[in-house]
Amino acid sequence: MIDTHSHLYADEFKEDLQEVIQKSRGAGIDKIVLPAIDSSSHEQMMDLAKAYPNYCIPMMGLHPCYVNNQYEAELQLVREWLGRASFAAIGEVGLDFYHSTEYKIQQELAFQLQIELAIEKGLPLVIHSRSSMDECIKMIAAHGKGKCRGIFHCFGGDERQAQKVIELGFYLGIGGVVTYKNSSLAKIVENIPLEHLVLETDAPYLAPVPYRGKRNESSFLVPIANRVAELKSITVAEVDEVTTANAKKIFRF
Ligand SMILES: [Zn+2]
Repeated sequence: MIDTHSHLYADEFKEDLQEVIQKSRGAGIDKIVLPAIDSSSHEQMMDLAKAYPNYCIPMMGLHPCYVNNQYEAELQLVREWLGRASFAAIGEVGLDFYHSTEYKIQQELAFQLQIELAIEKGLPLVIHSRSSMDECIKMIAAHGKGKCRGIFHCFGGDERQAQKVIELGFYLGIGGVVTYKNSSLAKIVENIPLEHLVLETDAPYLAPVPYRGKRNESSFLVPIANRVAELKSITVAEVDEVTTANAKKIFRF
């Protein structure tokens, strides 16, 4: 299995990172893709990628929650990194109007520039869309020129939005929320073919049941896969096979 979204370089893992990686290998996780946040954590992310080559694979991009008046300088650093190392995707990028709309215009500009960057570099996009699903869909449609592909990470939309995402050629990132009681995501996962889904933990956030409320980690991808299998009345092996193939296709592993 591939954990398509995990912030394992976060401070939450400082004490026991080696153990966490060992556990994830033991749980059958073959690769972990690391989404970038901003320049304050680039070094930490790249150090982790260097320590576990071909296992922890970095993305590069500016997270929408970290966009402010300095976003142009941050995007310059993103460009520099893209010029001197190899990355699986432009991510995580997008719009977040849940936490704040103070820099709404800057968020939109930064997202547009990073959509264009993905096209220029031939890389997939990993999109963060919180309280902004329709706006993200609109921006991909307007600026992606039909050339963009990637993942709507931690998909939190409805059926209509899921269809739109699929029409754009994007996949839905499914994580711990699918294991929560009364989660509307469960119904969506039931109805959307596996061919459009990838699995993710978003560690250290959003741990699945039975770890809900605790620190999330990549080995917890297993209960997520189990829940998807249960919802679709198929085996975990089938979930693994198809979602891993999807992730390999997106990231060109
Ligand atoms: Zn994330």
